[in-house]
Amino acid sequence: MSETPSTRSSADVETHVFGAEVHQLLKLMINALYSNREIFLRELVSNASDALDKLRFEALTDEGAAALAADPAIHVRFDAERGRLWIEDNGIGMTRQDVIDNLGTIARSGTARFLEQLSGDRTADARLIGQFGVGFYSAFIVADRVTVESRRVGVPSDQAVRWRSDGQGEYTLEAIERERPGTTVELEIGADHRDLLDAERLRSILKHYSNHVAFPIHLDGGAADDRESANTVEPINEAQALWTRPRQELGDEAYREFYEGLTGDTRPPSTWAHHHVEGTQSYSLLLYVPGQAPYDLAWNRDDRRGVRLYIQRVFIMDAAEQLVPRYLRFLRGVVDSADLPLNVSRELLQESPLLARIRAAVVKRGLAMIEKLAETGGAPWADFQRDFGAILKEGLIEDPDNRERIARLVRFSSTRDDAPHSVGLADYKARAGDGVEAIWYLTAESVTQAKTRPQLEAFRARDIEVLLMTDPIDTWVVGHLFEFDGTPLKPVSEGPPGDDADSDDAEEAAAASDARVERVAAALGERVGEVVLSRRLTDSPSCVVDPIGLDPRMRRMLEQAGQPLPPIRPRLEVNPAHPLVRLLGDLPDGDERIATIAELLFDEAVLLDGGELEDPAGFVRRVNAMLHAAWAGADAAAVRSPDHQPEAPNIGSPD
Ligand code: ADP
Ligand code: MG
Repeated sequence: MSETPSTRSSADVETHVFGAEVHQLLKLMINALYSNREIFLRELVSNASDALDKLRFEALTDEGAAALAADPAIHVRFDAERGRLWIEDNGIGMTRQDVIDNLGTIARSGTARFLEQLSGDRTADARLIGQFGVGFYSAFIVADRVTVESRRVGVPSDQAVRWRSDGQGEYTLEAIERERPGTTVELEIGADHRDLLDAERLRSILKHYSNHVAFPIHLDGGAADDRESANTVEPINEAQALWTRPRQELGDEAYREFYEGLTGDTRPPSTWAHHHVEGTQSYSLLLYVPGQAPYDLAWNRDDRRGVRLYIQRVFIMDAAEQLVPRYLRFLRGVVDSADLPLNVSRELLQESPLLARIRAAVVKRGLAMIEKLAETGGAPWADFQRDFGAILKEGLIEDPDNRERIARLVRFSSTRDDAPHSVGLADYKARAGDGVEAIWYLTAESVTQAKTRPQLEAFRARDIEVLLMTDPIDTWVVGHLFEFDGTPLKPVSEGPPGDDADSDDAEEAAAASDARVERVAAALGERVGEVVLSRRLTDSPSCVVDPIGLDPRMRRMLEQAGQPLPPIRPRLEVNPAHPLVRLLGDLPDGDERIATIAELLFDEAVLLDGGELEDPAGFVRRVNAMLHAAWAGADAAAVRSPDHQPEAPNIGSPD
């Protein structure tokens, strides 16, 4: 098992080599966090606190563990003369194998991602450490050598273990005697960091980072190496589960500190909600909306570090999946139930109807927090929309029961507003006024791309707002949300409104339509379903509309998913007022330019619609042929070669 080629033994001390990633991580971390070195203490205290949580959990089902869990505490001791700092807990402890697995390798998948995401920006990297849980190694920021002595609850006293390393690539292991279960971490503080070994300094660091750890932390800088000193001093932290305290007792600062301790995120949360619910079901609930997205939120759909479940203050599990629907997976916090059975397995717990009811409460409170953010508006709301808006939209599909409520909270970009993701469906309706026929939208890859779509021209001309749906999820959203507050959502391809209005141009257009439309239809053949004269275009010569109503992005997504789709035979609309279309009508029968113009009208329309050309080479050839034909006869001096472009950006314009 542990006898790998990288293991040497002398007497009873075995030397092991770190997994390659550990070595890499250590180097990166020491570098990234040097200026933020105090966080090592937060990390070691949080590990001690986790170990005490685990013991409490084990005590639920194991009497031996229950006896040991009676007096949980974390002791921080130091000896300034010898340059030593100890963090000790009487928690669950580690077996020899636990030590190898937890301190010798980085088994957790999060770490690989952590390494990928290190940016070199120290502040940002420091934030990552807490979020990815690679905390133990931060000890090496300040320590030249780290020794961990540990005994797992249930393991005999002569089978405890000592792990020691200078963080340079190897660690040693030996069996030791240890009277009590738990763990002691000893740091030999480096010469540059001895200033940390000061009672006031340590007290303020512990207060700052670990005030809301739910177990008492004692600081003791007494006689040298006095590890047996009794638990006489008052704990220096609150040592109380913050969420169990009445709201009136807690200031904003306490809530913010608790958030940081819980998530490792040093940026303040944008809002939180704290409730004590009494009744047939009693529970406390403390939920946060982070100020900004953690680094891996967008693609990590099973974020396990979201909301933690406690039962009567005993940490049970990270229960994001059980307590929070996926579309609210950015929420952070704690739920503490008084009624869930403590002695039930985690698996059974997940099926409990009580848990389902708590989940419904999390959704209700979660949405209420977001509504509050929306009402207040400003930067926090804009940040929320930027980082979490697209995730929230998943709720329109995932949670039909709350669709109405969620629909009021989602935001889109718009032709009326330059700020991205700022217009709600209710805003749209309010601006459009009473007689609003539809909420018009256009899906596209980006706002810039959306704004070039010829289909918008008629809306612009009629001064009608169009929502620009540019989140990948939007395509699905409009497949599930057909109306808002009695008003249908319609794609611009079905518009614009009032298209059937009788007008002089309409008649004129109809009269003159045949020749042009027929010429284009004949040239394009099978590639188009139909060709019509369009009244929706003002500037562009043409546009395409997919008759089955799929926008190009949706089509691509379905195709990538292997969905068989009918071939697109779009409707091509041509603008009778455009000079190119006029020219088409004026050319003599049989002129070869007719086909070229028809092809061009089609290809341009496909491009502007965000689609891909079937024959890009043909397109380029035709454009070049036309340029040549147009310019070959022109005054040579008027045509600049590309090298001269800086002086004459407008090719062909007289100067
Ligand atoms: P994380 O706490 O996110 O799991 P760390 O690097 O901080 O990552 O710790 C790695 C692992 O080492 C922990 O998950 C835990 O299993 C073990 N460990 C660290 N410190 C202790 C301790 N004081 N008592 C028991 N186990 C510990
Ligand atoms: Mg940790």
